[in-house]
Amino acid sequence: MADTCLHLDQINEGAVATSPDQCPACVALGDEWVSLRMCCICGNVGCCDSSKNKHATAHYNETGDPVIKVHEPGQNWKWCYVEELTWE
Ligand SMILES: [Zn+2]
Ligand SMILES: [Zn+2]
Ligand SMILES: [Zn+2]
Repeated sequence: MADTCLHLDQINEGAVATSPDQCPACVALGDEWVSLRMCCICGNVGCCDSSKNKHATAHYNETGDPVIKVHEPGQNWKWCYVEELTWE
């Protein structure tokens, strides 16, 4: 397994959350979530794998966008689905 993310060149540091503080897919379903993740490639916001609907992972499965970052106040880390790496 690689120990560095090979997708850093795909990260769009200018990606802006499409929805600042909610998972739009959960809102549409009327469901709740545990915490939020933002796609570093396109700015899509989804909920984490501790949430019922796992929309962040669903977004990866749908689009193949490999890198997400935490979208919670006071937290700052990224995760790559491909290498299963986390870093700050
Ligand atoms: Zn990667
Ligand atoms: Zn969700
Ligand atoms: Zn995306």
